[in-house]
Amino acid sequence: MITQSEPLKVKDLKSDVKPIWCPGCGDFGVLNAMLKALTDLKLDPAYVAIASGIGCSGRFPAFVNAYGFHGVHGRVLPLATGIKVANPELTVFAVGGDGDAFSIGAGHLPHAARRNVDITYIVMDNEIYGLTKGQPSPTSPVGMEKKASPYGTYDIPLNPTAMVLSYGATFVARGFSSQPRELTELIKRGVQHPGFAFLQVISPCVTFYDTYARFKDIAAPIPEDHDSSDRAAAIKLAMTTDVQYLGVFYQEEQMSHHARVDQVRDKAGSDFSLEDLLKRFVR
Ligand code: SF4
Ligand code: MG
Repeated sequence: MITQSEPLKVKDLKSDVKPIWCPGCGDFGVLNAMLKALTDLKLDPAYVAIASGIGCSGRFPAFVNAYGFHGVHGRVLPLATGIKVANPELTVFAVGGDGDAFSIGAGHLPHAARRNVDITYIVMDNEIYGLTKGQPSPTSPVGMEKKASPYGTYDIPLNPTAMVLSYGATFVARGFSSQPRELTELIKRGVQHPGFAFLQVISPCVTFYDTYARFKDIAAPIPEDHDSSDRAAAIKLAMTTDVQYLGVFYQEEQMSHHARVDQVRDKAGSDFSLEDLLKRFVR
């Protein structure tokens, strides 16, 4: 993390591009929490990079005065991994929605987790495809009736937090866009974690599937006596769906992906030449 002695204010971190999200969209809460986390941590925005996938939440990088890359659908994790490996000094975020993360991008998630890529991945989960006007997503609940599912969805939804815990992620948390103070703290802890930090953030789509009331009723902080170094206990909490626990489910320290890459570089030594290696395959 590269910090600065004179931290910027939240207003300085807002870019000139104004969010075009619908009024009341949960993504506003996530953006504000992220901006507050960046200022609280005194991060130098010249060393912050935000990669995103496609969807309403994919517009995120444009609204922050830092480096950003709005990538293609589902590919935010390879993108963020490449940024971090190329320049480990950067604080790297990956952001996107539930469709981007758990449908087309789902194949990348276990690998970013098992590699312990030192990035903070924020998934704004609204249980629907918002940008394309309300189709069921991998986290839509059974029975959701929309234009694209007039008789109700029938597929069992994924449980992102339980899923990522089972992939071996070293930091797993869940937040809610309508609890900005708590969400800011979760983002800060994710950034400070030296490895793959996954945050599932409940971020309702007020236009196509307003889940504020449902989640306000069932959201609760993780019990204080939960041992966040106990992965099995974390999975059990995550599997509870009648209550949606918020907070840090699990955290452990392991060597990060870029540190392992450095080890391999050291092993290869100064004799290694990529050019020579490539010549072997050129006829
Ligand atoms: Fe947010 Fe839904 Fe509007 Fe997209 S369509 S900006 S997710 S409220
Ligand atoms: Mg979505």
